[in-house]
Amino acid sequence: MAAAGRQDTIFMQDSLKPEQVQKALRTGWLGRSYRYLAAVGSTNDMLKAEESGGRSSNDAGTVLLTDYQEQGRGRLARSWEAPPGSSLLFSILLRPGWPVERLTWLTMICGLAVSEAVEQQSGLKARLKWPNDCVLERENKWQKYGGILLEGTVSERGTVKYAIAGMGINVNIPAKELPQTSFPATSLLAANGRPLSRLDLFCTILSCFEAHYDRAAQGVSPHAAWQDRLIYMNERVVVSRLGQGVDVAGQVMGTDASGRLQIRDDDGAIRYIAAGDVSLRQYLEQ
Ligand code: ADP
Repeated sequence: MAAAGRQDTIFMQDSLKPEQVQKALRTGWLGRSYRYLAAVGSTNDMLKAEESGGRSSNDAGTVLLTDYQEQGRGRLARSWEAPPGSSLLFSILLRPGWPVERLTWLTMICGLAVSEAVEQQSGLKARLKWPNDCVLERENKWQKYGGILLEGTVSERGTVKYAIAGMGINVNIPAKELPQTSFPATSLLAANGRPLSRLDLFCTILSCFEAHYDRAAQGVSPHAAWQDRLIYMNERVVVSRLGQGVDVAGQVMGTDASGRLQIRDDDGAIRYIAAGDVSLRQYLEQ
């Protein structure tokens, strides 16, 4: 998708440049170091490249945001598409020093922060699809308006050295410009019928994220609040590994403390599935 030529069709009035963001931000530490780029390959990749050099001067809580990603990614290098200026596309650098078992807390915190901010700013009811999708219900169907991509590095001591939490949120993508995806895509504009201020939504996400993160840093798990927002609870689902067909079919029993999906398979056995290379969909009778 070409960056040029699309911009005038999109709601571009709200600027996410540093002077606007720093004025509107209500956080203590998160996003106080903030960079904006009109376009970049991928915000996660850029922060990762800076960290992997070993000489990064980025503070914990650094946020990198762009109006257009040339190589936006989901998990497993699946692409993330969004017309320029339509979305919130950003990554947060964190240095939690938490035990590696708690890395998944960061995905949970992202999901909670996005959901709470969307509810505050739009009045829509925001839910989550395990493990990392932000969804809304429209006409009795779940549709995806956002995705979370968490990447982390573990130190020799088994703690999280740094983590990069990337978020892509379809804010003002007009319905006709939504990507054609196997799990139906939507945007907050398409769902609500009116554009939202990306700036207000962004600053609210950061405030919510900071509050959850600070609690997690005190040892308070975000798991229960996160699980409350998950769709497909008690329903029959299919988990598949990319390109390898159905892996497990069964009923969702819940998730464990580290966020693994707990499924009772057709033989009655309880299976635990970690996020990674699997995707989840509703079981549909053939
Ligand atoms: P999932 O968790 O749904 O399996 P990922 O988190 O890996 O998927 O996200 C990548 C997938 O999201 C892509 O394969 C594509 O189908 C879908 N996608 C790409 N761009 C968008 C978008 N703007 N809105 C909703 N879905 C998208």
